[in-house]
Amino acid sequence: MQSLVLYAQLVADVDRFLDGAYRVIGAGMVCGPGCDACCQNALSLLPVEAYRLREGFEGLAPNVRQRVGELCRTIEQDGLPGPCPLLHEAKCLLYEFRPLVCRTHGFPLFSAEFAEEIGRPVDFCHLNFTEESGLETIPREAILNLDLLSRKLFVINRQFLAETGRADVAPDTRIDMTELFAEVVNDSVWRKRHNGEK
Ligand code: SF4
Repeated sequence: MQSLVLYAQLVADVDRFLDGAYRVIGAGMVCGPGCDACCQNALSLLPVEAYRLREGFEGLAPNVRQRVGELCRTIEQDGLPGPCPLLHEAKCLLYEFRPLVCRTHGFPLFSAEFAEEIGRPVDFCHLNFTEESGLETIPREAILNLDLLSRKLFVINRQFLAETGRADVAPDTRIDMTELFAEVVNDSVWRKRHNGEK
Protein backbone atom coordinates (compact mmCIF):
# COMPACT_ATOMS: atom_id res chain seq x y z
CA MET A 1 0.00 0.00 0.00
CA GLN A 2 1.30 3.39 -1.01
CA SER A 3 0.22 4.96 2.30
CA LEU A 4 2.39 2.53 4.27
CA VAL A 5 5.37 3.38 2.05
CA LEU A 6 4.76 7.08 2.71
CA TYR A 7 4.40 6.41 6.43
CA ALA A 8 7.72 4.53 6.46
CA GLN A 9 9.35 7.47 4.66
CA LEU A 10 7.92 9.91 7.19
CA VAL A 11 9.24 7.80 10.07
CA ALA A 12 12.67 7.70 8.41
CA ASP A 13 12.61 11.49 7.90
CA VAL A 14 11.68 12.10 11.53
CA ASP A 15 14.34 9.70 12.79
CA ARG A 16 16.93 11.42 10.58
CA PHE A 17 15.92 14.87 11.82
CA LEU A 18 16.03 13.75 15.45
CA ASP A 19 19.41 12.04 14.99
CA GLY A 20 20.69 15.40 13.77
CA ALA A 21 19.01 17.22 16.66
CA TYR A 22 20.57 14.78 19.11
CA ARG A 23 24.02 15.48 17.68
CA VAL A 24 23.43 19.18 18.37
CA ILE A 25 21.78 19.02 21.80
CA GLY A 26 22.39 15.46 23.00
CA ALA A 27 24.79 16.55 25.70
CA GLY A 28 21.88 18.31 27.41
CA MET A 29 19.58 15.30 27.28
CA VAL A 30 19.11 12.46 29.72
CA CYS A 31 16.96 10.34 27.35
CA GLY A 32 18.16 6.76 27.12
CA PRO A 33 17.61 3.20 28.30
CA GLY A 34 16.01 3.15 31.73
CA CYS A 35 14.10 6.43 31.41
CA ASP A 36 10.41 5.70 30.86
CA ALA A 37 9.01 9.05 31.95
CA CYS A 38 7.30 9.59 28.57
CA CYS A 39 5.66 6.15 28.59
CA GLN A 40 3.30 6.58 31.50
CA ASN A 41 0.06 6.64 29.48
CA ALA A 42 -1.59 4.30 27.00
CA LEU A 43 -1.76 6.13 23.68
CA SER A 44 -4.49 6.51 21.11
CA LEU A 45 -3.37 6.28 17.49
CA LEU A 46 -4.49 7.17 14.00
CA PRO A 47 -5.41 4.00 12.07
CA VAL A 48 -2.23 3.99 9.93
CA GLU A 49 -0.04 4.02 13.03
CA ALA A 50 -2.25 1.47 14.78
CA TYR A 51 -1.88 -0.82 11.75
CA ARG A 52 1.90 -0.54 11.80
CA LEU A 53 2.11 -1.14 15.55
CA ARG A 54 -0.18 -4.12 15.22
CA GLU A 55 2.16 -5.57 12.57
CA GLY A 56 5.02 -5.31 15.04
CA PHE A 57 2.89 -6.84 17.77
CA GLU A 58 2.22 -9.92 15.63
CA GLY A 59 5.97 -10.55 15.59
CA LEU A 60 6.22 -10.80 19.39
CA ALA A 61 6.38 -14.18 21.09
CA PRO A 62 2.90 -15.62 21.85
CA ASN A 63 3.40 -15.45 25.63
CA VAL A 64 4.42 -11.78 25.38
CA ARG A 65 1.38 -10.99 23.21
CA GLN A 66 -0.81 -12.75 25.74
CA ARG A 67 0.71 -10.78 28.63
CA VAL A 68 0.24 -7.45 26.86
CA GLY A 69 -3.30 -8.39 25.85
CA GLU A 70 -4.22 -9.32 29.41
CA LEU A 71 -2.79 -6.08 30.70
CA CYS A 72 -4.84 -4.14 28.12
CA ARG A 73 -7.96 -6.06 29.02
CA THR A 74 -7.42 -5.28 32.70
CA ILE A 75 -6.84 -1.59 31.92
CA GLU A 76 -10.05 -1.55 29.85
CA GLN A 77 -12.13 -3.28 32.51
CA ASP A 78 -10.80 -1.47 35.56
CA GLY A 79 -10.16 1.88 33.88
CA LEU A 80 -6.65 1.92 35.30
CA PRO A 81 -4.41 4.81 34.30
CA GLY A 82 -1.12 4.00 32.44
CA PRO A 83 1.68 3.12 32.07
CA CYS A 84 1.72 2.19 28.39
CA PRO A 85 0.99 -1.56 28.06
CA LEU A 86 4.04 -1.93 25.79
CA LEU A 87 6.37 -0.78 28.54
CA HIS A 88 8.22 -3.74 30.03
CA GLU A 89 11.08 -3.38 32.50
CA ALA A 90 11.52 0.27 31.49
CA LYS A 91 11.85 -0.63 27.78
CA CYS A 92 9.45 -0.48 24.84
CA LEU A 93 8.50 -3.95 23.56
CA LEU A 94 7.96 -2.50 20.07
CA TYR A 95 10.68 0.13 19.93
CA GLU A 96 11.30 -0.26 16.18
CA PHE A 97 7.56 0.10 15.51
CA ARG A 98 6.79 2.85 18.02
CA PRO A 99 4.51 5.64 16.83
CA LEU A 100 5.82 9.03 15.74
CA VAL A 101 4.86 10.70 19.00
CA CYS A 102 7.11 8.27 20.88
CA ARG A 103 10.00 9.03 18.52
CA THR A 104 9.73 12.71 19.41
CA HIS A 105 9.70 12.05 23.16
CA GLY A 106 12.15 14.23 25.03
CA PHE A 107 13.02 16.50 22.09
CA PRO A 108 12.11 20.19 21.88
CA LEU A 109 8.91 20.56 19.83
CA PHE A 110 7.26 23.55 18.19
CA SER A 111 3.48 23.89 17.98
CA ALA A 112 1.30 26.98 17.63
CA GLU A 113 -1.01 25.38 20.21
CA PHE A 114 1.74 25.35 22.83
CA ALA A 115 1.76 29.15 22.83
CA GLU A 116 -1.81 29.12 24.17
CA GLU A 117 -1.36 26.11 26.44
CA ILE A 118 1.96 26.88 28.10
CA GLY A 119 2.72 30.45 27.05
CA ARG A 120 5.57 29.62 24.65
CA PRO A 121 5.54 27.86 21.28
CA VAL A 122 8.23 25.33 22.15
CA ASP A 123 7.77 22.57 24.68
CA PHE A 124 10.49 20.30 25.99
CA CYS A 125 11.07 17.58 28.57
CA HIS A 126 11.98 19.14 31.89
CA LEU A 127 14.37 16.29 32.60
CA ASN A 128 16.37 17.42 29.56
CA PHE A 129 16.04 21.22 29.66
CA THR A 130 14.96 23.76 32.22
CA GLU A 131 12.81 26.86 31.90
CA GLU A 132 15.76 29.03 32.82
CA SER A 133 18.45 27.53 30.64
CA GLY A 134 16.27 25.60 28.16
CA LEU A 135 14.70 27.58 25.39
CA GLU A 136 17.43 30.10 24.72
CA THR A 137 20.10 27.42 24.54
CA ILE A 138 18.25 25.18 22.08
CA PRO A 139 19.34 25.85 18.48
CA ARG A 140 16.42 26.40 16.09
CA GLU A 141 17.55 23.59 13.80
CA ALA A 142 17.10 21.11 16.66
CA ILE A 143 13.42 21.98 17.21
CA LEU A 144 10.95 19.68 15.48
CA ASN A 145 7.85 21.32 13.96
CA LEU A 146 5.10 19.18 15.44
CA ASP A 147 2.32 20.96 13.52
CA LEU A 148 3.96 20.15 10.19
CA LEU A 149 4.55 16.54 11.24
CA SER A 150 0.90 16.18 12.32
CA ARG A 151 -0.31 17.56 8.98
CA LYS A 152 1.85 15.11 7.02
CA LEU A 153 0.68 12.19 9.16
CA PHE A 154 -2.94 13.28 8.78
CA VAL A 155 -2.66 13.25 4.96
CA ILE A 156 -1.03 9.79 4.96
CA ASN A 157 -3.72 8.51 7.32
CA ARG A 158 -6.46 9.75 4.97
CA GLN A 159 -4.82 7.88 2.13
CA PHE A 160 -4.54 4.77 4.31
CA LEU A 161 -8.26 4.95 5.12
CA ALA A 162 -9.09 5.29 1.42
CA GLU A 163 -6.81 2.40 0.47
CA THR A 164 -8.39 0.15 3.11
CA GLY A 165 -11.94 0.96 2.01
CA ARG A 166 -12.75 3.23 4.94
CA ALA A 167 -12.85 6.60 3.23
CA ASP A 168 -16.04 7.37 5.17
CA VAL A 169 -14.28 7.09 8.56
CA ALA A 170 -13.70 10.51 10.16
CA PRO A 171 -10.02 11.30 9.47
CA ASP A 172 -9.36 12.23 13.10
CA THR A 173 -10.70 8.91 14.44
CA ARG A 174 -8.22 7.42 16.86
CA ILE A 175 -7.79 3.89 18.19
CA ASP A 176 -6.93 3.22 21.81
CA MET A 177 -3.85 1.07 22.17
CA THR A 178 -5.59 -0.97 24.85
CA GLU A 179 -8.43 -1.74 22.41
CA LEU A 180 -5.89 -2.70 19.77
CA PHE A 181 -4.21 -5.40 21.85
CA ALA A 182 -6.94 -6.52 24.27
CA GLU A 183 -8.58 -8.59 21.56
CA VAL A 184 -5.75 -11.16 21.51
CA VAL A 185 -6.85 -12.38 24.91
CA ASN A 186 -8.95 -15.47 25.25
CA ASP A 187 -11.90 -14.11 27.25
CA SER A 188 -12.68 -17.14 29.35
CA VAL A 189 -9.04 -17.70 30.33
CA TRP A 190 -8.68 -14.03 31.21
CA ARG A 191 -11.86 -13.96 33.32
CA LYS A 192 -10.70 -16.96 35.29
CA ARG A 193 -7.37 -15.35 36.05
CA HIS A 194 -8.69 -11.86 36.62
CA ASN A 195 -11.80 -12.63 38.65
CA GLY A 196 -10.77 -15.94 40.17
CA GLU A 197 -13.66 -17.63 38.28
CA LYS A 198 -13.67 -21.42 38.12
S1 SF4 B 1 4.77 2.58 22.51
FE1 SF4 B 1 6.77 2.28 23.46
S2 SF4 B 1 7.82 4.26 23.38
FE2 SF4 B 1 5.59 4.62 23.05
S3 SF4 B 1 4.71 5.07 25.09
FE3 SF4 B 1 4.51 2.85 24.75
S4 SF4 B 1 6.36 1.93 25.67
FE4 SF4 B 1 6.75 4.14 25.39
